[in-house]
Amino acid sequence: MLGSSKRHKKRAQKDFFRDWLYRKYLLARWLDYQGKQIIRMRGKSRQHEKAFRLILETRAGLGKIVKSLVLDCKCIVDCGSTCCYFPGRRGLGVFLSEEEAEKVCSILEKMGLRREDYVRALDKGGKKPHFARLNKRRRIPEVVLARSPKLLSDERLWVNKNSYACMFLKEDNACLLYDRLRPRSCATFICKTGSMVNALFLLGVIRPSYLDGRKISEINTLADRATTLFSDEGMFELDHKIAVCFMDLVKLYLKSGKGLSGKMKELLELGLEYDLRRNRILRGIMP
Ligand code: SF4
Ligand code: SF4
Repeated sequence: MLGSSKRHKKRAQKDFFRDWLYRKYLLARWLDYQGKQIIRMRGKSRQHEKAFRLILETRAGLGKIVKSLVLDCKCIVDCGSTCCYFPGRRGLGVFLSEEEAEKVCSILEKMGLRREDYVRALDKGGKKPHFARLNKRRRIPEVVLARSPKLLSDERLWVNKNSYACMFLKEDNACLLYDRLRPRSCATFICKTGSMVNALFLLGVIRPSYLDGRKISEINTLADRATTLFSDEGMFELDHKIAVCFMDLVKLYLKSGKGLSGKMKELLELGLEYDLRRNRILRGIMP
């Protein structure tokens, strides 16, 4: 049995990435809220101009991370779309809200496809939850099963050899709906491998070409190692200090401008410390 501190550590490691992401999301929302005022204050002095640039660059960076990882979740790992397979012949595919189901059906009609072939409505005590149907003729390929990525919980498999493809998964492994609609359940699915690799890419640590020809087992290892980057206590503290310092800078900028230089210096020093620590950890994790 795990001791309580080990259990706590394991849980903390499981939640580290969501926490990190959530903090970025809150900061981006806060900054969006201040946005109009920030832009109105632009260019009052040289000092303001510098702070303005720093604020906007940070805002753009945060926006990119949050958009790609929270709202879009576009995955750059070519694992054979494991997350579009679901266990069980009688199992259900992706959950669709009432509103999503309607949109999906109208997309299908425009394509000349029959909605009942793709969407299934269950009758549950007056409520009618909708699900994407499973393609019973398309079992998960052995090669995809053998090299599947990891979930956040560290499990490697959430599918088994009796898993079937979502009806919307095309032969080329692209989603039939993707360009028109991303069901919320698909957009918010995060597997550890995909999210870690996407985060490393967004942070500029790896390029997509880094993945060329790499085995999923190697990419799983990279994702495991990348957890250190987000679960390191020193990084966590620095990240928190940077967020507080950054918010103070924005408040000063909007209030009077007095003390801006000192705050910017403090922020840049913290950023430097953060980069040094990050690079040290990265040197240890990159295979
Ligand atoms: S709807 Fe598209 S993205 Fe979602 S599981 Fe089906 S194929 Fe995959
Ligand atoms: S999110 Fe995970 S399962 Fe889905 S495509 Fe990316 S690596 Fe594969």
